[in-house]
Amino acid sequence: MICPYCGADNDRVIDSRATDAGRGVRRRRVCEACEKRFTTYERVDQPNRLVVVKRDGRRDPFNTSKMMASITAACGKLPIPEAVKEQLVEEIEEELSREFEKEVESAMIGQRVLAKLRDINKVAYIRFAAEHLRIESIDQLRKELEDLESRPTNVRDQQPLFDPAGAR
Ligand SMILES: [Zn+2]
Repeated sequence: MICPYCGADNDRVIDSRATDAGRGVRRRRVCEACEKRFTTYERVDQPNRLVVVKRDGRRDPFNTSKMMASITAACGKLPIPEAVKEQLVEEIEEELSREFEKEVESAMIGQRVLAKLRDINKVAYIRFAAEHLRIESIDQLRKELEDLESRPTNVRDQQPLFDPAGAR
């Protein structure tokens, strides 16, 4: 390790201890040239990598590009800026890594996406819900639409649910 004081590359570790509940190591070092002390930290690259538990019990590493792909599919050609989708993915990733330590069920991720999509674009929401909630009948879809219409939203630039101009 290069000494931050004199630039010599000649140090000796005088103390090592675990930090961050064993996820890191803190090393006290002394420079052999100038005898000043400094500290380095070592930790695992990408700590707390989440694993997604799917409906059938299979496990996959959490992957933001997969989440982005399913959101993009639901958004289709709707006028939803790329930046809005990216922010949605980022927010969910941040929430999940804060709230879950090792594993998270795919259904939970879907719920998070839905909760946010509902405030972004209702058509995208319904498309994602149809895929995610496995809507298999018109009745089920109708019920979901009624729920959607009855719930208040705190939306700024909300798309109308059935926009004649957008229905091409
Ligand atoms: Zn030094």
